[in-house]
Amino acid sequence: MAWPKKRNPAYDKPEWRRARKAQLERDGWRCQIRLPGCLGTAGEVDHVLGIEADPHHRVLRSACAPCHKQVTSAQSSRGHREPPANPNTVW
Ligand SMILES: [Zn+2]
Repeated sequence: MAWPKKRNPAYDKPEWRRARKAQLERDGWRCQIRLPGCLGTAGEVDHVLGIEADPHHRVLRSACAPCHKQVTSAQSSRGHREPPANPNTVW
């Protein structure tokens, strides 16, 4: 069984399953992120600080799949030291 990318082992613990379900119920299964393309109904839970910073799932929010994907890709790119785009650059 191979995951396409590294998966944090914290996701395999019962602690996560409990925290995830509790968060969805607290938010009434509504997405809390509400980006463009939001489905409205949450089926996933996002670690606001990222799971590396929050391995015990203290800061969570309910999310639909499209919103979750957008915020997690923003989170993972935040770690890379890419210079901000310079609008004055002439290519
Ligand atoms: Zn959403």
